[in-house]
Amino acid sequence: MKVEGLVFQKTPYKERDMIVHLLTRKGQKTSLYVYGGQGGGKSKKGSLLELGHMLSFVLQKSKGIYNNSDQKPLSIAKVDQVNWAPKYIRNDYRAFMLSQFFLEVIQKLALSETDDIDFNEHEGIFNVLSNALYYLDKAVEGQNVDYMTHLLLFFTKLIHHLGIAPNYEECQFCQKILGEDELCLLDISNGGFSCLECTSKMDEYLSDNRQLSEEYQAGRRYKQAFQKFSLEPYKNYLNFPSTSVGLVRISFNFLNYQFGFAEGDYRTWKLLFE
Ligand SMILES: [Zn+2]
Repeated sequence: MKVEGLVFQKTPYKERDMIVHLLTRKGQKTSLYVYGGQGGGKSKKGSLLELGHMLSFVLQKSKGIYNNSDQKPLSIAKVDQVNWAPKYIRNDYRAFMLSQFFLEVIQKLALSETDDIDFNEHEGIFNVLSNALYYLDKAVEGQNVDYMTHLLLFFTKLIHHLGIAPNYEECQFCQKILGEDELCLLDISNGGFSCLECTSKMDEYLSDNRQLSEEYQAGRRYKQAFQKFSLEPYKNYLNFPSTSVGLVRISFNFLNYQFGFAEGDYRTWKLLFE
């Protein structure tokens, strides 16, 4: 039996072995045990098990192996072939950090094969990660990386495929259709947009507040960006308007809120802004 997936994390085990964590084509996380997976040995071969590589594995016919922390035995596997590997990302430090961040987000948010859900709905998550890495690599090759656009694309596509996208067409409270240029608020805790009337009814004092009017404008900019970024295919990454750190942060907060995470829970997030 074969398993194909993208390596998002690896854990060296014993002297030469490796536990490799993959996002499979079905969009689920799985872990495999690879003997000699750290490379080296007599032939001094390097390891094929690199982060961000898309590999296929052949599962070995054995009972699997128990490591200390896991209840379920890990399947023992051998690398069959490298199906794709980034060629250029490493040449650009910020792009490299961005790729590590993509992998960390997947490690946190994707579901494991042991979680009891229907996985056909999660193939989209694999597509988001593979597109994010593939087009980031192409952008570095073409020397036209817009880091914030790649980040916002990744967040938007992920939010979309996780099934938590805010409805940008109507107000979540009164169902009024929101016009293209209409001011609105992104209400992160309710997961949708709300129109001016509904928001000011909730808090009349705040509607006079200057800070809120800025938030309305940010809400409108986010709604417009979210719509464009969800509908356009990833391959058109060069046609996306350049975006601001502010919109990227709104998107990240939105995603984190739905899963109960915070910025500080990510190792690689702050490295993107150094
Ligand atoms: Zn409304």
